[in-house]
Amino acid sequence: MSRLRHIPRRTAGAIDVVVIGAGHAGLAISQLLSTRGVEHVVLERGEVANSWRRERWDSLPLLTPNWQTRLPGSAYDGDDPDGYMSVSELIRFLDDYAANTKAPIVTGCEVTSVRKVAERYRVTTSQGTWNARAVVLATGACNAPSVPKAASELPAAITQLTPFDYRSPESVPEGGVLIVGASATGLQLADELLNAGRDVTLAAGEHVRMPRRYRGKDIFYWMTHCGIHDESYTEVEDIARGRRLPSPQLVGSSDLPILDLNYLKDRGARIAGRFMRAWNGQAQFSGSLGNVCALADLKMQRLLKLIDETADRDGAPAAETFAPTRVDDDPVLSLDLEKVNSVIWATGFRPDYSWLEVDVLDRKGQLRHDGGVVDSEGLYVLGLPLMRRRKSSFIFGIEDDARDIADHLVGYLTTHLRRAS
Ligand SMILES: Cc1cc2nc3c(=O)[nH]c(=O)nc-3n(C[C@H](O)[C@H](O)[C@H](O)COP(=O)(O)OP(=O)(O)OC[C@H]3O[C@@H](n4cnc5c(N)ncnc54)[C@H](O)[C@@H]3O)c2cc1C
Repeated sequence: MSRLRHIPRRTAGAIDVVVIGAGHAGLAISQLLSTRGVEHVVLERGEVANSWRRERWDSLPLLTPNWQTRLPGSAYDGDDPDGYMSVSELIRFLDDYAANTKAPIVTGCEVTSVRKVAERYRVTTSQGTWNARAVVLATGACNAPSVPKAASELPAAITQLTPFDYRSPESVPEGGVLIVGASATGLQLADELLNAGRDVTLAAGEHVRMPRRYRGKDIFYWMTHCGIHDESYTEVEDIARGRRLPSPQLVGSSDLPILDLNYLKDRGARIAGRFMRAWNGQAQFSGSLGNVCALADLKMQRLLKLIDETADRDGAPAAETFAPTRVDDDPVLSLDLEKVNSVIWATGFRPDYSWLEVDVLDRKGQLRHDGGVVDSEGLYVLGLPLMRRRKSSFIFGIEDDARDIADHLVGYLTTHLRRAS
């Protein structure tokens, strides 16, 4: 291990490890590599916490409570552990973490290609070329909004936005809004636009319903306390499906017991089924809304029942009940697009590996990896949904994953160095 060393090296050249991305995942692995004495650099195309600076809307609060904002060696220590940080507070937290850990970051350094050349990775960037023994992809799971192909069928007069374009209700032209997608993003934007007096239709496909608080605690407390967040990827029955699950219908606020379709309907939103296509001046929706909602209700009840076992043992306050999702007998199947001036695609996000020239992507463009160990020796990834644990894509989930990956990486480097000498 004597050749493993931590010398911050910010100029291009030969190096042991390149970490790509300075979001929370890149910063966490950098800190763990430093404590293990591994020479590395973190290459970031923008600034620290770039995604939070450039790709989130103004009013977004974190949906994880403050006590869960923690990274290796550092945790939230303010006076509101049960509150929810704003984006600017999180940026400050990550900036401070980068400074305190002295992470060797090169900002404004875009990685344009990663190739395997002999036993090393050639990392080409806007600031030169690094030749690394190992590379950690910490570029995030949400680099681009996923927009369905049917978007191209909408009339040109309708403004189309993604959550990357949306900042506040003022970013949306006056008039009716169709929001497609009923996960955290879709529901939060619908709520904000209703508050601004807009006419909102929400198209809901498969979604994950859960209350913000249950039996006196935040739902994330229970999910962690009951071991759900720690469930390993090896124990999940249908891992491909688990990794595709939409984000839960939550907002970081304790004002509202549950942000769900019932609440939005009561506030005047029109709820339709999954958006299918635009045809003949009409948006057309699936008639399966009733089934989709019944399934979401059933899964929420299962989750709450699981929590009850622990909550009963802990002597928590009595269980609350939540009304089933109300679906009209005659659901909205089409909407006259004359009444819609804009469509917001809250249909999820995807990673972007367009610069990765190593043969590690499957037919769907997803990385082939086993718990973050990518299918090419010396290549690793962090921060993907259910990557090693249910909590993998959350800030509080990174520490355990990053530790596992750092340990694997050190083992790999030791072998690599032995082979090279
Ligand atoms: C709307 C939204 C809300 C969320 N809310 C929460 C929440 O409340 N709590 C929670 O725990 N999680 C939340 N998440 C999930 C997750 O924590 C964030 O997505 C988080 O930003 C992921 O961190 P990361 O470090 O993996 O990736 P990112 O934060 O996306 O960081 C990746 C970095 O890589 C850089 N990069 C990408 N490509 C390149 C390249 N080619 N060259 C150089 N640099 C590159 C980017 O600029 C970026 O800085 C949320 C996600 C979204 C989308």
